[in-house]
Amino acid sequence: MIVIGGGIVGCAVLDRLARRNVSVLMLEGGDDVAVGASRANSGIVHAGYDCEPGTLKARFNVRGNAMIWQLAEELGVPALKCGSLVAAPVGGEEGIALLKRKADLNGVRAEVLSREQALEIEPMLADGVQSALYAPDAGVVSPYQLAIALADRAVLNGAEIVTDAPVVSLKKEGGLFVAGTPQGEFAAKLVVNCAGARASEVNALVGAETFETEFRKGEYYVLDHTERERVSTVIFPLPTAAGKGILVAPTADGNVIYGPTSSPAEEDDTSVTAEGLEEIRRNVPLTYSSPAYNKCIRVYCGVRTIVGHDFIVRPSERVEGLIVTAGICSPGLTSAPAIAEYVEELAGRYLPLANKADAVIRPPRTPRLAELSEEELNALVKKDKRWGRIVCRCEKVTEAEIVAAVHSPLPARTVDAVKRRVRVGMGRCQGGFCSTRVMEIISEELGIPMREIRKGAGHSEIALLAVKEADYEEV
Ligand SMILES: Cc1cc2nc3c(=O)[nH]c(=O)nc-3n(C[C@H](O)[C@H](O)[C@H](O)COP(=O)(O)OP(=O)(O)OC[C@H]3O[C@@H](n4cnc5c(N)ncnc54)[C@H](O)[C@@H]3O)c2cc1C
Repeated sequence: MIVIGGGIVGCAVLDRLARRNVSVLMLEGGDDVAVGASRANSGIVHAGYDCEPGTLKARFNVRGNAMIWQLAEELGVPALKCGSLVAAPVGGEEGIALLKRKADLNGVRAEVLSREQALEIEPMLADGVQSALYAPDAGVVSPYQLAIALADRAVLNGAEIVTDAPVVSLKKEGGLFVAGTPQGEFAAKLVVNCAGARASEVNALVGAETFETEFRKGEYYVLDHTERERVSTVIFPLPTAAGKGILVAPTADGNVIYGPTSSPAEEDDTSVTAEGLEEIRRNVPLTYSSPAYNKCIRVYCGVRTIVGHDFIVRPSERVEGLIVTAGICSPGLTSAPAIAEYVEELAGRYLPLANKADAVIRPPRTPRLAELSEEELNALVKKDKRWGRIVCRCEKVTEAEIVAAVHSPLPARTVDAVKRRVRVGMGRCQGGFCSTRVMEIISEELGIPMREIRKGAGHSEIALLAVKEADYEEV
């Protein structure tokens, strides 16, 4: 079976099927998994109170929320069930009551709170907030670490992942699909299309149904760890037709984010604009009393893929053996474990699936310096000196952790792939002090010349030539 696309949906599908008695292969166009929408989003595990009852979104959100905490625990992925508040101004009582009715219909725990009750949960609510809807089962997870950990576990359970392998052709010949990529052709009886923004394009390659697709960008501020103690829960405004609105939230890794905006965009437009940041600055004070833009360490942007009002997760109507996931916008991160569970059920209609007896459930985990006691660290340094060499001072990451990331089941071969695994370069200096050392480590460990070390996908080589040896005519 071939899974096309290594976002959170593809990785969750691969992870489930790798634990069954079938051979599974992922083809990912980027240099790593989690390089599309699953890399740049809010990281919220939504409770499920605002999805329209009866939709796939509602069904997968609620089921995904129930599954994701255990998944994060098994895989050692940062996650925190911190609850969420929808904070409403005077006149917002009707909106809160509507959300509460949807919560009840969707089977989601939620409570209507007065301003005073809400302040007990979130002391930093803005003065204008008069009532709130509290959902204790919401929280946050590291979206890319979850996708990577699922991919790693899939590899440990026998799956194969080929990166830098965009599927550019897909044919069905004599009951077999043949997927063409720059890395060669791959054949399988069953294909699961998890290509996110390009799901419609991939369907078109094999003559399957296509979808009118809309893209909307979401821009964010990322705040320093120092802001984390001010924010206890995920704070949303009342949702509108345009979406869930601009939130203030902790991240699972201890930062705070403000965002996202929602404006029409091209599929690959991840630029951050002055207008987008201005919109965030206008909206944050409506729910949160203590914005601190001077603590911003980075801005980023992710792009939503929208197809109609609901997710599409079903067998293709035109091509037998093709399972399609499309239009997986928010709450797609939360829903991914449940989407994968359903895709597995659909796959079972084509192939007899049985559990592997010896599947890995809790993969071995490399410790993090930031989590170690002095005694634990000393013991590790005695065995391996690389635990004593700190490469990223902001996020406290050692050489030993970077080496482990480079040799993980799905190896990190680029600077950004290492960054997403161990947070090197995600702190205040944003890699200013540590990126070159990370390049050296990748080069030494994988035997890749420094000039060929890439930041991320495509031709993103960082060091084009060695200055002291340069023949400047070459440049
Ligand atoms: C701004 C924003 C905020 C969001 N916030 C939340 C949130 O807080 N909570 C939540 O639950 N959800 C949230 N979401 C939604 C969530 O991020 C997405 O639903 C989810 O990441 C979609 O995952 P995916 O695997 O379908 O797509 P992607 O992550 O985009 O993965 C698709 C993959 O397919 C690959 N690909 C494409 N074409 C090909 C090809 N031809 N061959 C091989 N590979 C290919 C791409 O490289 C990519 O890696 C948010 C989304 C955005 C954009």
